[in-house]
Amino acid sequence: MSFSNINGRPLRVFVTGGAGYIGSHVVKALGEAGCEVLTYDNLSTGNRWAVLSGNLVVGDLADRERMRRALKDFAPDAVMHFAAHIEVAESVRDPLKYYRNNTACALNLLEAIHDQGVGLYIFSSTAAVYGIPSQMPVAEDAPLLPINPYGASKMMSERLLADLALADPSFRYVALRYFNVAGADVQGRIGQAYRNPTHLITRALKTAKGEFDRLQVFGDDYPTPDGTCIRDYIHVEDLAAAHLAALEHLLEGGASDVFNCGYGHGYSVREVVATARKVTGIDFMVEDAPRREGDPPELVADNSRIVARTRWRPRYDDLEFIVQTAWRWEGALPEAQQLKKAQLF
Ligand code: UDP
Repeated sequence: MSFSNINGRPLRVFVTGGAGYIGSHVVKALGEAGCEVLTYDNLSTGNRWAVLSGNLVVGDLADRERMRRALKDFAPDAVMHFAAHIEVAESVRDPLKYYRNNTACALNLLEAIHDQGVGLYIFSSTAAVYGIPSQMPVAEDAPLLPINPYGASKMMSERLLADLALADPSFRYVALRYFNVAGADVQGRIGQAYRNPTHLITRALKTAKGEFDRLQVFGDDYPTPDGTCIRDYIHVEDLAAAHLAALEHLLEGGASDVFNCGYGHGYSVREVVATARKVTGIDFMVEDAPRREGDPPELVADNSRIVARTRWRPRYDDLEFIVQTAWRWEGALPEAQQLKKAQLF
């Protein structure tokens, strides 16, 4: 896939949240595909060192003036919107934070790009919009019944997009519903670097490293074979490739659409723990704990739509490989943090 010569020049893509975990992998992939990229990120959870392609403007989406100026100066052909809060449990405790950042700021951005006449948009959505689906794997036309504010905040943003696309045929979008994103850059340059990581694979590996004394398994009484929750873990580079495939779909004149991003099969928390122990060779401590609020028992993607309507094909559908790349990154993380310090001072 190359975007280096679209109408005689590289395609220009404006990426909010491009310094974050998923955004940075997409920025890297866009750069490799020949795009000119501008990252707009407030660095609240992102890192300067993670932006491997193009320039970074440090700014907040709530700062409309700054955001509009950055958009105007860069004059993008397409916008990809990643900047958002992503923790289910936090969203249950502090819902307004999620509606403000994930929904209201998405509206700020949409207004700005609409005023500027940018017609192509890719949105980071989530499987959390489905809530507890009645059919598994879940397809895109399943009812949207989120069970936590995080999922609801993303569902509302999807609705904004659908309504805008209906009203204005010159605006087309793809919303990508992420399942459980994990792993790191295959070359080990970037990966998850949250200050307070909550995701299972990262927590498990940091426990193996000794950063936490034990890993808690949140709930073992779910209606699943081993009683723990089942999730569809997708490698972050496959997810990044889905963004490029969605962009290509729009550039080729494809209609606005919504695509699940997952592999179509899942693993239980206990299976992930066993894989993390195998990959690291460390028998870290695991403790059964009560259920975490807002967790559906099982979330597995029906990915047939993205496969049918775009050129996306999974490359790293292998939990052990996913965990290996994340483990390699965990080893490289101290260096990245040093680099961050060097950039700050
Ligand atoms: N989980 C767990 N212990 C942890 C972190 C997560 O048991 O320390 C479980 C969590 O309850 C869920 C699954 O692992 O069932 C995946 O959670 P994660 O936070 O990674 O992603 P989510 O599915 O919430 O997007």
